[in-house]
Amino acid sequence: MPDVRLQTASPDATIAFAQGLASILYPGDLITLEGDLGAGKTTFVRGLALGLGIDAGLVSSPTFVVINQYAAQDQSSTIPQLIHVDAYRLTSAEDLDSVGWDALFTPEGRPRQGSIAVIEWPGRIDGAVNEPIAKVSLLSEGDDTRTIAADLPPSWEGREGLDLLLSRPPTRCPTTNAWVAPTSPTYPFASARARDADLFGWLTEKYRSPRDLKPEDVGEGTADDQPFA
Ligand code: ADP
Ligand code: MG
Repeated sequence: MPDVRLQTASPDATIAFAQGLASILYPGDLITLEGDLGAGKTTFVRGLALGLGIDAGLVSSPTFVVINQYAAQDQSSTIPQLIHVDAYRLTSAEDLDSVGWDALFTPEGRPRQGSIAVIEWPGRIDGAVNEPIAKVSLLSEGDDTRTIAADLPPSWEGREGLDLLLSRPPTRCPTTNAWVAPTSPTYPFASARARDADLFGWLTEKYRSPRDLKPEDVGEGTADDQPFA
């Protein structure tokens, strides 16, 4: 089972990792989020939303309503909406009858109509959803440090971007300082523009080599070639 474990030092780093996870999702995928109150589960959902083209400002803890739905801003998106369940106040899967569950999930426990579902406190509604499930857990290490562990289903093997999600951390863009998801095509830059701006900095000698370049610094050449004479 592909799995990844990392530490984040800020809510935005957690959001950037979740954004990366969102970028490898297919319609109908299920994610569960475990962790104590304040561990960062709802913060993680904000990152998923962002990665799915949903206004992350809409995401709030559905503790009292149990289920929130957030529609993709682009109506032609292959993933029409994110279903966000917070089962904290429920005591068993039977409690789901009264909160509109059946309209959103099939009897087999899968999100309907190509939606993605993310479930906080899945242990409260044991048996309501079925594998394959991506299982994410968050652990507070005090202050702003969180350990995130994600166990992904074997059936996700081979998805585009999975190797990047598993092998490199979210990072800050050298140009804009914004957080960048592991799967971003312009990693470690936040955008192509930010990357080009950085290149421009090199070309205009904003950055200087600590000593003058010698021919051997640039590879093939010999002193006789004198490319920099
Ligand atoms: P939960 O849904 O697990 O109860 P929330 O996401 O609602 O947790 O709250 C997590 C709190 O911890 C937020 O106030 C968030 O800003 C803060 N926080 C601090 N550091 C981090 C981090 N590295 N990752 C996620 N949240 C963090
Ligand atoms: Mg929450």
